[in-house]
Amino acid sequence: MKPARFEYHAPETLAQCLALLAEHGDESAVLAGGQSLLPLMRFRLAQPAHLISLRGLGGPLERIERRGGSLYIGARVTYTAVQRSAEVREGCPGLPRSIELIATPAVRTRGTVCGNLCQADPASELPAVALLLEARMHLHSAEGTRVVAAADFFQGPYMTARRGNELLVAVEFPVRPATERFAIREITRLRGGFPMSGVAVALTPGAGSALESVAVACFGVHSQQLRLHAVEQVLRQRGRTPAALQAAGEALDAAIHPHSDPFASEAYRRSATRTLLERVLAEACAQPSNPP
Ligand SMILES: Cc1cc2nc3c(=O)[nH]c(=O)nc-3n(C[C@H](O)[C@H](O)[C@H](O)COP(=O)(O)OP(=O)(O)OC[C@H]3O[C@@H](n4cnc5c(N)ncnc54)[C@H](O)[C@@H]3O)c2cc1C
Repeated sequence: MKPARFEYHAPETLAQCLALLAEHGDESAVLAGGQSLLPLMRFRLAQPAHLISLRGLGGPLERIERRGGSLYIGARVTYTAVQRSAEVREGCPGLPRSIELIATPAVRTRGTVCGNLCQADPASELPAVALLLEARMHLHSAEGTRVVAAADFFQGPYMTARRGNELLVAVEFPVRPATERFAIREITRLRGGFPMSGVAVALTPGAGSALESVAVACFGVHSQQLRLHAVEQVLRQRGRTPAALQAAGEALDAAIHPHSDPFASEAYRRSATRTLLERVLAEACAQPSNPP
């Protein structure tokens, strides 16, 4: 199908872009990599009257910058640029490792990290990773700027706290401690496809089976990406003993409400997510800290 009619705008400065967003608000859509938006428009599931392209915007929007204790990834930065960035691989290695699971090289060459986060697909890897690593969203509008924590940004399936007149100019990821280890696993029908279940973990091992810190998030298995605080609490208090893993699995079961579809039943998704949790914990604990 062809998209419904729309007016195309190609601002050359951030101020022009924000003025267009102020004028057209909810009637408009920002065009970043177009890897989600354009298919939705072709199926007429999205029918923005105004399409505001980011292509002409340069400066910080197309850069990855390390400032203080954080990495800032601008609105035009593609997945591929993040994967190739030595600064990101060093400061936030979980991010490129998660991006490896997304789609294909062709999609990753165009798709942007900020576009992915604004899309807020519950099956996507990155919103869960943003929750896990406590990313912050830098939103600009003609009226001013605000910073929203990932925990407040994702509000439901495909829903975020972004207002219609705002641009996500950058996402900020705190630089990770050198002792932290990261693992992410998912189950997909096709390589590079959206997962039926996925779990990511960032942890710092302690003595024996103890865990000094642990953060867990899941995706693809619930109506939105989830940080699993109850699971984290069990693991922090009891370490990674067999009994603690059993209790963590029960906490996971209570936190998620998977759906059934022709590809996987609710019971399969529950069982797969518990298995993935055990595997990412084992994988992270077996790693040397922050492998490149
Ligand atoms: C074949 C295929 C397989 C895929 N597989 C996966 C997968 O396994 N995992 C996965 O996570 N994704 C997958 N995707 C989606 C892909 O990752 C998209 O690139 C991504 O979701 C959106 O990024 P984008 O830059 O293309 O954004 P766009 O498609 O341009 O925009 C997406 C949405 O975000 C809004 N938006 C974009 N940037 C901004 C901004 N800076 N400020 C405000 N609003 C903004 C747009 O208006 C739109 O509503 C797949 C896509 C394809 C085509």
